Amino acid sequence: MRNVVNLDIEQVELAKAVTGLVELPVRVDNDVNTAALGASRVIEQADTGVCVFLNFGTGLASGIVVDGVLYHGYSGAAGEIGHIPVDPNRFPCPCGQYGCLETVCSGASVGRLWPQADPPMPDLISRANAGEPHAVEVLRIVLHAIGDALQIVAHSFDPKLIALGGGMAKTGRPLLLAIAGELHDREAASPFLQGLALTARLQLAPSDIPLGALGAALL
Ligand SMILES: [Zn+2]
Repeated sequence: MRNVVNLDIEQVELAKAVTGLVELPVRVDNDVNTAALGASRVIEQADTGVCVFLNFGTGLASGIVVDGVLYHGYSGAAGEIGHIPVDPNRFPCPCGQYGCLETVCSGASVGRLWPQADPPMPDLISRANAGEPHAVEVLRIVLHAIGDALQIVAHSFDPKLIALGGGMAKTGRPLLLAIAGELHDREAASPFLQGLALTARLQLAPSDIPLGALGAALL
């Protein structure tokens, strides 16, 4: 493991350490990748083609599964979209950059932007829908970043399915509707984007199955 910023870990030889304890072959991967692999086995038709699991947890990251196999990239960082520094608010990120996507569109960052409730997202959406100005403003920031995150994975990998997971996705249908609204606004100005029909590719990952553990067992 290298540079796990949310756990303040620079480098740990984890597989070696655990192998010494259990005397079994050990494979290491991150929680989002294993959840992506787990999701690809339980979501209908996700075991073929390109499927992306977008995780709104402590951070923001995606796992990419191609025909049932995890895609890691050259250094294992494929799908780490949370640290793409594009958000105009330019909040500092633990990774050392400013404006990383995960500073505005992860479960933890929404908790910082909307500390009034725990979990924050259901309360934020219902207050924004009721017209509370501050909630409308915060939700606009979050949805803008979620829209960017979706477009980044959609344009990079053209997946047939994007499964939304992590703590924030437990908000369920109200979150899905809010995201669909954001995409609809963008599509209204862009026939190109409309043609990609991203809303139809979105679905919530099952929240009653331990996807990360399931995927870890399949590594
Ligand atoms: Zn970052």
